[in-house]
Amino acid sequence: MADQPTRKRILTGDRPTGTLHLGHYVGSLRHRVAFQDQFECFFLIADLHMLTTKPDKEDILRIADNAREIVLDHLAVGIHPDKVTFYLQSAIPEVCELQLLISGLITVERLQQLPTIKDMARAAGLEQIPYNLLGYPVLQAADIFTPRAHLVPVGRDNLSHVELSRQIARRFNNKYGDVFPVPEPYVVGGTLVGIDGQAKMSKSLGNAIFLSDDEQTLRRKVMKMYTDPKRIRADIPGTVEGNPVFIYHDMFNPDKEEVETLKQRYRAGKVGDVEVKEKLFRALNEFLEPIRERRAHYASQTGFVDELLARGTERTRKEAQATVLAVRKAMGLTGVWNRIRRSAERRQKRLAKQAAP
Ligand code: ATP
Ligand code: MG
Repeated sequence: MADQPTRKRILTGDRPTGTLHLGHYVGSLRHRVAFQDQFECFFLIADLHMLTTKPDKEDILRIADNAREIVLDHLAVGIHPDKVTFYLQSAIPEVCELQLLISGLITVERLQQLPTIKDMARAAGLEQIPYNLLGYPVLQAADIFTPRAHLVPVGRDNLSHVELSRQIARRFNNKYGDVFPVPEPYVVGGTLVGIDGQAKMSKSLGNAIFLSDDEQTLRRKVMKMYTDPKRIRADIPGTVEGNPVFIYHDMFNPDKEEVETLKQRYRAGKVGDVEVKEKLFRALNEFLEPIRERRAHYASQTGFVDELLARGTERTRKEAQATVLAVRKAMGLTGVWNRIRRSAERRQKRLAKQAAP
């Protein structure tokens, strides 16, 4: 197996389609904060994946700014810049080469069966599936193989993609020799509903609280949060279960006693929505305050984030080159080229000798 790192490597990332919100914190960022001390972390800015559903020039022009915001969001929640490697996927052409070299190990039918592809096409309003969308799980496999990652954090609904990468790794290793660690899924949980209480928090649904929201924006969003619709007056007993305001209290208010008391009073019709929301605003604001401060600290250092991303990309590129070389060697492609190249060089030398006086 190509050179073994000492700590297990983990690969995860985000499409640079915008800044991150509390849903991302719950679903991925909080886990990444823990990962940075356990694993060697590679966090990719997956801009090639963005091209599957957002291929327009104006989307591409936003990649650089979105990438910076995403890195800032990570640093803001407590990722230490020296502990992890951020990289820009499209700056590493070896990723595409890797995708091509492994693409024969999986069938079109297998990809068509993945429900996530149709879901993504539907969400993006696409009637037909572009080739890169069909192939995006293979590109994900190439992402995982780039730094030869051992672990991939994943929600339960995306387990099928890691399974596909495992299949490709096993097939490659059996056919050509051991190159890839067979990646393990690292199941992480947690979905956060949006402030509309209707769907999971998503930036495109307008129901998100962003990690970068200022105090006034936060207050405005909390005050218009969806609660129990049956409760038109404060003295009507309310439902706590599934009520977004209490879901957020449970998740972000560290004062568990206050939350319990509020729940009891809510169920008994003894507290108004305004007080519940006011307390939620306070808790969320206290949660976001250190995040805003760290964000401002890093954002104030001009070029810091770009330098971090550039350094991480260069480092990952070296990993990618080593991986592609190992793959080419295992497949025998290096040998093919070497034979042709050497024979051509020998002829050149012969001709040069003959031409010499
Ligand atoms: P879009 O509106 O463009 O779909 P989004 O805000 O839903 O954007 P995505 O880019 O779709 O964000 O999310 C990327 C990943 O972030 C998801 O696969 C998931 O792991 C995590 N994530 C996003 N939203 C949530 C959420 N509300 N709760 C938990 N995890 C989330
Ligand atoms: Mg989404």
